Amino acid sequence: MKSHSRGREVVTEAIVLKVQTIQENDLWVDLLTPREGRLWGVARHGRKSKKRFSTVLEASNHVRVRFRDKGGVVFLEESQLQLSTNGFPELDLPTWLTSFFIIDLVREFVPERNRDIDVFELVRDTLLEIPFLNRYERLRVLENFEKDFLSLCGYGVNFERCALCQTVVSDEQDLKFYFVYREGSVFCQHCMQGKGEATPFS
Ligand SMILES: [Zn+2]
Repeated sequence: MKSHSRGREVVTEAIVLKVQTIQENDLWVDLLTPREGRLWGVARHGRKSKKRFSTVLEASNHVRVRFRDKGGVVFLEESQLQLSTNGFPELDLPTWLTSFFIIDLVREFVPERNRDIDVFELVRDTLLEIPFLNRYERLRVLENFEKDFLSLCGYGVNFERCALCQTVVSDEQDLKFYFVYREGSVFCQHCMQGKGEATPFS
């Protein structure tokens, strides 16, 4: 491979996970890419340079970026929105909340430089699908996403039983079940005590 003092140039599609302003004008960007994995990048003068970065560096956006990679933090040189052939409907609150729930999961579970094209494609395709779904479709897509995503991340999650008392998850019982991210497991309401952050699970 040809070496270059400014690092390897990479052009790739990416999902923007988080953006923060640093030192007034620079942007610190958390990205998920298909072949480079999750990356942290700096866009110098990113806040001011509308020509190079415009307003496309925003969380949950599907973008195309060009950057220099010398290992570690990468240096963004350009970014633009990936064109969607259908165009997006107006983003509503449920769409935002669902998208950010997915982004949070990615930020929680995907380590830096973790190259996994399956994870990227699942996240991208789910984010692109969400704005076009009704409430019920959205919940179903989100449930499937959780299962597929955690399984790809190496969490063989058992969604069938409470991880402690082994009670079978069932809609017929009065017992409620919760999914606890930090444990990567499902717990019944009795075994849930003190587990903290959890999502009702059915
Ligand atoms: Zn239990």
